[in-house]
Amino acid sequence: MPLPRLFDYAIPEGTAPRRGDRITVQLGRRQQTGVVVDADVASDLASDRLKSIVDVRSDAPPLPLDWLELMRFLSSYYQRPLGETMISALPPRLRSVKPLPRKASQAEGEAIASARFVAVHELTTAQSQAVARIALKFGGFAPVLLHGVTGSGKTEVYLHLIARVLEAGGQVLVLVPEISLTPQLEARFREAFPETRLAVMHSGLQDIARTSAWLEAARGAAGIVLGTRLALLAPLRKLGLIVVDEEHDASFKQQEGLRYSARDAAVYRAKLTGCPIVLGSATPSLETWYNFRQGRYERIELSERAVPGARLPTVRTIDLRSQAVEQGLALPVVQAIERRLARGEQSLVFINRRGYAPVLGCEACGWYAGCARCTGKLVVHSVDQRLRCHHCGAQEAVPRACPTCGNVDLKAMGRGTQRVEETLASRFPGARIVRIDRDSARRRAELGRTLEAIRRGEADILVGTQLLAKGHDFPQLTFVAVLNADSALLSTDYRAPERLFAVLSQVAGRAGRRSEPGEVMVQTRYPDHPLFGALERHDFAGFAEAQLAERRSAGFPPYVFEAALRAEASALAQALSFLEQARSLVVAPEAVRVFDPVPHVLTRRAGFERAQLVMQSASRAALQAHLAALAQMLFESAPRDVRWHLDVDPIEFD
Ligand code: ADP
Ligand code: ZN
Ligand code: ZN
Repeated sequence: MPLPRLFDYAIPEGTAPRRGDRITVQLGRRQQTGVVVDADVASDLASDRLKSIVDVRSDAPPLPLDWLELMRFLSSYYQRPLGETMISALPPRLRSVKPLPRKASQAEGEAIASARFVAVHELTTAQSQAVARIALKFGGFAPVLLHGVTGSGKTEVYLHLIARVLEAGGQVLVLVPEISLTPQLEARFREAFPETRLAVMHSGLQDIARTSAWLEAARGAAGIVLGTRLALLAPLRKLGLIVVDEEHDASFKQQEGLRYSARDAAVYRAKLTGCPIVLGSATPSLETWYNFRQGRYERIELSERAVPGARLPTVRTIDLRSQAVEQGLALPVVQAIERRLARGEQSLVFINRRGYAPVLGCEACGWYAGCARCTGKLVVHSVDQRLRCHHCGAQEAVPRACPTCGNVDLKAMGRGTQRVEETLASRFPGARIVRIDRDSARRRAELGRTLEAIRRGEADILVGTQLLAKGHDFPQLTFVAVLNADSALLSTDYRAPERLFAVLSQVAGRAGRRSEPGEVMVQTRYPDHPLFGALERHDFAGFAEAQLAERRSAGFPPYVFEAALRAEASALAQALSFLEQARSLVVAPEAVRVFDPVPHVLTRRAGFERAQLVMQSASRAALQAHLAALAQMLFESAPRDVRWHLDVDPIEFD
C-alpha cells in the first residue's frame, strides 16, 4: 500500500528549490524523484534528522502551480496520496531519477509558429451560432454542453473555437475517448492547423514520445494537446479552452490506481484555469444532462446533420418473437443487406458485446467451459481455437470432448462477432466482410489501415462491436443492423439503459452520413420498450428525462453521490469481514448511507474473491469527509492480506 504522507527534506546550501520543482531525494535506500509541494515551511522534524535534497532538477521545466493545484484536487477527491497522484501523472521519463537526454531537455519552447487555420467547410448557421456563443465566454470559466446529433459537425465547431484560442496565443486541451479514434481525428486537426504544434497523448505511446509530448505541452510549444484521459494530467502554460469529445464515454474514467474521471476533473481544471470547457456529445451522460437542467451548464444544440442533404437515419425495431430468424439474423435484416449489396453500399452488423459472448457448452450434460480463476465463463475464439476469459485473461485450448460426459460434439453457444461473420460469409458469398472488435483491433496501425480501407469502400459488410460505433465516418454506409440489444435491458446495473441508448445512437449515427438516407434495424424481443421508442424518434431529451425520473425515485446518481469501498482477498469471507470491519470502525455520519457489503456479480477475478460496500449521500461534502476518514484508517491499519481501494463516483459495479 502506498504511503499517504509527505516527506520533509532540508534545502542544501546554494540551492533555492521552489514549489513545482522536480528533485532527487534519498528515500530509504533508494534515490527517487520527488516534487516540491512547499518550499518555505519549517519542518516538525529536528534539523539533524532531516535528509538533504540530493539534486534540484533542471532538465525539464518546473511543474506549474495550477498543475499542483489540480493534483491536490485529484488526490483529495479520489482519495489517493498526493505523492502517488503526482508521480503517476508524470510521464515515465520524468519519474526516473536519470536526467533526461540532453536533446529532450534542451529543446526550446519555441513560440507557436503560426495559428494558420485552414477551414474545410463553410459553417452551417447552427454551427456558427454555437461558435459565436462559446467564443463570448473566452477568458472565464464556463461549462458548455454541445449537444449535437451524430453528424452535426461538432468537430468543426471545436476547430473554429481552437483557431480563435490559438490566434490569441493560447493552448487548447482536447480529450477524446479511444485511441482507435485518434488517427482520423489527428489527421483532421493537422489539416486544419498545418503550422501548429500538436502534442498527441495516449497510453499506447512509447516513453520518449510521451515525454516529449508532455514537454511540448508544458513549455507552451504545443498549441493543441490531443489525447485520451491521461492528457488531462499534462501541464499547460497557456490553457485557454478544454474540449471533451463524447463526454459520456466510460473510458474517461480510470479503473485502476487513481480512479479519476477525466471529464469531471476537466471541469474542475477549467474552473481553476478560468477558461470555458465544451462537453460534446449526441447522448450526454445523465450527470451532464442533470447539470444542464439545474442551470449549471449551458446547453447548445445542433439538431441537424451538417452535410447538406444528410438526414438522421430511420430507426425501427424488428420483433424477434414474430420474425423468421436464421442463424441469428432476422429476415428483414438479411433483405436489407441484400439491397445494399445490389446498390454497392455498405452495411454494418453491430453486436452489442456487453454481457454477451459465445461460450463452449455441452448439450448432452449441460457442462460449460468456466474460468478456473474467476466465476466468468470462457469465450470461444475460433481463430486460434482457444478459450479466453475476458475478465482475467486466462486462456486454454478448446477441449476435444466434454470433460464431464465425454461428448465430442461441443458447441459454441451464443453469437459472437466471429460466428456472425461466418454466417454472413455463407449467406452472402462474394461479399467483402470485415470484422472489427477488440481482438482484431489489438494492433493500432492495422486498425487504422482497415478503417481507411472501409472509408475507401473496400468492404461491403462490416461486423463489429462497440469499437465500430464511435466517431467513425464511413461515407458509403447506409444500413446498420443491431443484434442482441436486449441483454442491457435485463441488466441490474442502473446505468445499462443509458449506455445502451448511447451506443445505439452512436452506431445508428454511422448510417447515412451523406445524401443517401440511412436505415437502422434493431433486433429485439422487447419492441415496446420505451427506450426504443425514444431511439426511433431521436428523442434524447425525452429519454434522459424519463431516466432521471427513475433515478430520482430510486435514489441513484445524479440525485445522490456514490462511492464504493472494494476489497479483494483469497477467500470471500475475508473480503466481506474486512468491509464489515471498516464499516464499524469508521462510523458514517447520518448524512451518509452505507449499504451492506456484497460480493461482486463476478465474484472471483484473477484468483481473488471480490466484494464491495457502496456508500451514498445527498451531500458531496459529507461523503468526502467520511471517505477521507475511512482512507486514513485503512492506510494506517488495513490487514496485509486484503487488497482494497476506494472508487469515488464509480461507474462499474461488476
Ligand atoms: P459529429 O462529431 O457531430 O458526429 P462530425 O464533426 O464528424 O460530426 O461531422 C460529420 C460530417 O459532416 C463530417 O464528414 C464533416 O466533414 C461534415 N461537416 C461538418 N461541418 C460541415 C459543414 N459546415 N458543411 C458541410 N459538411 C460538414
Ligand atoms: Zn478468468
Ligand atoms: Zn457433457
